[in-house]
Amino acid sequence: MKRIVVLGAAESGVGAAILAQKEGFDVFLSDMGSIKPHYKEMIEEKGIPWEENGHTESLILNADEVIKSPGIPENAPMIQKVKEAGIPIISEIEFAGRYTHAKMICITGSNGKTTTTSLIYHIFRNAGYNVGLAGNIGRSLALQIAEGRNYDYYIIELSSFQLDNMYKFRANIAILLNITPDHLDRYDYNMQNYADSKMRIIQNQTEEDAFVYWADDPIIQEELKKYGIKSQLCPFSILKKNGMIGYIEDGNYVIERPTPFNMEQESLSLSGKHNMYNSLAAGIAAHLSGIKDEMLKESLSDFEGVEHRLEKVARVGGVQYINDSKATNVDACWYALESMTTPTILIIGGKDKGNDYNAIKELVRKKCAGLVFLGADNSKLHAFFDPMGIPTADTHSMKDCVDECVKMAKPGYTVLLSPCCASFDLFKNMEDRGEQFKALVRSL
Ligand code: ADP
Repeated sequence: MKRIVVLGAAESGVGAAILAQKEGFDVFLSDMGSIKPHYKEMIEEKGIPWEENGHTESLILNADEVIKSPGIPENAPMIQKVKEAGIPIISEIEFAGRYTHAKMICITGSNGKTTTTSLIYHIFRNAGYNVGLAGNIGRSLALQIAEGRNYDYYIIELSSFQLDNMYKFRANIAILLNITPDHLDRYDYNMQNYADSKMRIIQNQTEEDAFVYWADDPIIQEELKKYGIKSQLCPFSILKKNGMIGYIEDGNYVIERPTPFNMEQESLSLSGKHNMYNSLAAGIAAHLSGIKDEMLKESLSDFEGVEHRLEKVARVGGVQYINDSKATNVDACWYALESMTTPTILIIGGKDKGNDYNAIKELVRKKCAGLVFLGADNSKLHAFFDPMGIPTADTHSMKDCVDECVKMAKPGYTVLLSPCCASFDLFKNMEDRGEQFKALVRSL
């Protein structure tokens, strides 16, 4: 019997183990840390052997194949040993993809994945399609397949970490939103490695498939030259240009092919330039999948957005508070600032992933009336922003941070939490950071 070892026992790992068991493999699940009770219950119930707080080599290096959770870095000692032993390492999505015939619509990019994935799912559901949501979002693909859900389509959010261990998987519609610096700590601080990972979204695509991408991204443009892409190219841009399948023209949102589709830009529910891109990508995928025009219009105009992404929290004392806790890199913050229409107090800081703040310097100068630093260590922020002469405050908890914002913000201002950084230095995760911000704002 073939042996499958799953490393990492959270959403994707537990799903993969359950599917592997169902498919008749000898399965073992191992986690370096402790496994959440909810996941333990699931694996106990299935009688899957497991361990936590460490890896037992003898139970792992006898695997025929290893499924690695996306959270485990390539340079983890156990991964190195598995590689040295010549055991193939795949991701949960690669594994699960072997056991379904559903059409796969896959979304990747440095920013906008969750928004675009959720929007596409919303459009397909509204149109009555038999559709599942998976990947970096919600429940694992493997678990849904193990549960026998016979979806016709899966809308799958793919991070670069998932793509890194995908080889045979084929996306029927691949969407690449953008490639900007992120997670460089996991790519040897080499942008090319990260770009290579994102481009895996198109591997194995055939003439029957479609590749939807943002045509104005300089890195994507460079990368495209390196690949002999077989799939149907579906570039989009905010401006009408030669070859674009989707664009904005004279206040209209336009998709040209396969049939013309048109709606007023004003009616799109998501605002901000970045969300034009996301709405174009989602609309093109839906249009290619035969969603009726009326349904598409309706869904593009009634989508409510996703929590922690430019989420309006409250207006207090004439100040608008916005939670963009998900802005964990500089590019996401750039788009948030770009969409600001009033003087802004920006909350920035956290766990820095090798950020270069030059990208937002001009926008900070143009839009920000104050900066509130929120991190365990704010020294890099001080060094970069203090010379700009904008008022700053130094805080290490959300309570102090919100208090400083209240002091700095005048009526008519916006307070924007768009921190450019991961949250793990002071918070459990970005959701916790956003929740704490919202709770404090609502209690003002
Ligand atoms: P991801 O899942 O890729 O992290 P999200 O949809 O969760 O993307 O958005 C992450 C952050 O990036 C949010 O701050 C959001 O406002 C911003 N954002 C969303 N779409 C884009 C885009 N197309 N380009 C740049 N930034 C974006």
